[in-house]
Amino acid sequence: MTRTINAILLTLLMSAGCSTISQINLISTPQEVEMGQQFSQEVEKEVKLVRDPLVVSYVENLGQLLAQHSQRTDIPYTIKVVDSDEVNAFALPGGYLYVNRALIQTADNESELAGVMGHEIGHVVGQHGAKQLTKQLGLEALLGVVAGENPSIGRQLAAQVAGVGAGLTLLKYGREAELEADAYAVQETYDAGIDPGGMATFFEKLLAMHDEGDSGFAQIFSTHPPTRERIERVHGLTAELSKKNLKKDSRDFQKVRAYLNERYPIKKK
Ligand SMILES: [Zn+2]
Repeated sequence: MTRTINAILLTLLMSAGCSTISQINLISTPQEVEMGQQFSQEVEKEVKLVRDPLVVSYVENLGQLLAQHSQRTDIPYTIKVVDSDEVNAFALPGGYLYVNRALIQTADNESELAGVMGHEIGHVVGQHGAKQLTKQLGLEALLGVVAGENPSIGRQLAAQVAGVGAGLTLLKYGREAELEADAYAVQETYDAGIDPGGMATFFEKLLAMHDEGDSGFAQIFSTHPPTRERIERVHGLTAELSKKNLKKDSRDFQKVRAYLNERYPIKKK
């Protein structure tokens, strides 16, 4: 049995995760939430969280506002800030969102942060994590993991999700899923009254900084590559929306960013 599990895990890690995520049988919503909770416990053993109330409450409020305006409100969302100099954010199945501190510090305004958070919520809405795992492990094996029948594979999967070693593969959903998550993000931010264009300006910035060889962007590039195609699609979707008053920035965002920059200055590599 262990050998089978290791073989599955190896396949999972080797897979580039780039193929099409099509319609497949999925685990139920309660099972997905249960799986996300198990993974989140493992993730939180691996990462250090920012616990400063100013930061936590701001990010939590922004995330909940976006989640309320998402196309998936049947699950609770849990939003946390990771103390990391890497520009990144990730979502686990079942509504567990992690935003790296450096992402907030790199964004110029609230709409840029909201765009990336909206994108991560979009992966939850599209159930991309659950679909990816179901496709790669098979429904039965995945259900076994959720039920705790395969604690070792559960722990290994969770460790991979936590970003240890090659694990980023697990959160690498492929082009189709990235575009879908972007489309959800445009709708969520717009419905929440925030300018969806922030996502595009943030992608532009990432591309420019990447070209300059800044290594702090390695993670976000490996899991959610900000391509020209994505930027153009976001512009296209935004242009289709009817005009209304949208928020680009907030005093709270600037306060939080200034606080982080003061308290956790990013070390240039
Ligand atoms: Zn993504």
